[in-house]
Amino acid sequence: MKYIGAHVSAGGGVENAPLNAKEIGANAFALFTKNQRQWVSPPLSAKSIAAFKTNCGKLGFLPEMILPHDSYLINLGHPEEEPLAKSREAFLDEMQRCEQLGLKLLNFHPGSHLQKTEISKCLTTISESINIALEKTKGVTAVIENTAGQGSNVGNAFEQIAEIISQVEDKSRVGVCIDTCHTFTSGYDIRIKAEYERTWSKFGEVIGFNYLSGIHLNDSKKELGSRVDRHDNVGKGLIGIELFKMVMQDDRLNNLPIILETPDESLWAEEIRLLRTFEL
Ligand SMILES: [Zn+2]
Ligand SMILES: [Zn+2]
Repeated sequence: MKYIGAHVSAGGGVENAPLNAKEIGANAFALFTKNQRQWVSPPLSAKSIAAFKTNCGKLGFLPEMILPHDSYLINLGHPEEEPLAKSREAFLDEMQRCEQLGLKLLNFHPGSHLQKTEISKCLTTISESINIALEKTKGVTAVIENTAGQGSNVGNAFEQIAEIISQVEDKSRVGVCIDTCHTFTSGYDIRIKAEYERTWSKFGEVIGFNYLSGIHLNDSKKELGSRVDRHDNVGKGLIGIELFKMVMQDDRLNNLPIILETPDESLWAEEIRLLRTFEL
């Protein structure tokens, strides 16, 4: 079964996210559990946590099909001690919020070397950051998102993600989210069947399907290999509609959250309806 949704607003409280997801016909969703542009947010209230769980239960959203996203400020591979400590603290808070909400996954961008350290050192720092967070939490998987490789962001090559995972101690609680826009702009073609299959076999070989925990399903405004992260709406970008058909007919992508992060949110309901027509 395919679980499809979008990164919906949690404005007014996390308990509103499942309501917003239901409105667009989703059976999965992503959300921020705090203000994503601030380092510190007030803790989740007991009332908000209870309402979130009630709404998810009532509307049929399974915890495994909810893919929260961490703050954009966090850099778990930061080359400097103080900002790294700040990032690790903020990431732990994000993991704990997921724990409180009964969620199973937390999606994050691995990090950036900021031209101040080698990639391999940055990857090791990220693995250590994950180890610290996993040690202090229970039941939540840290889900590494592949990146476009923009600026000094690491995690564009599958080999880098595999390298991070190899240094994580508890491999039962580390996963990977594949963003189709990032995959394409980092240089993996997914526009036609042969290339789509080649990219996934590479993923299988280098990382392994056992780690696949979610999909960010986006078209791209930028070219193959451009290393620029600009999402586009379904079928409107340079990847094109064929990808979306292949995803919806791919059994390997059953039973995990498939999340739209397409820029025009007024199209989400329509995009989900369209995606459903591609299922076999
Ligand atoms: Zn994404
Ligand atoms: Zn992106």
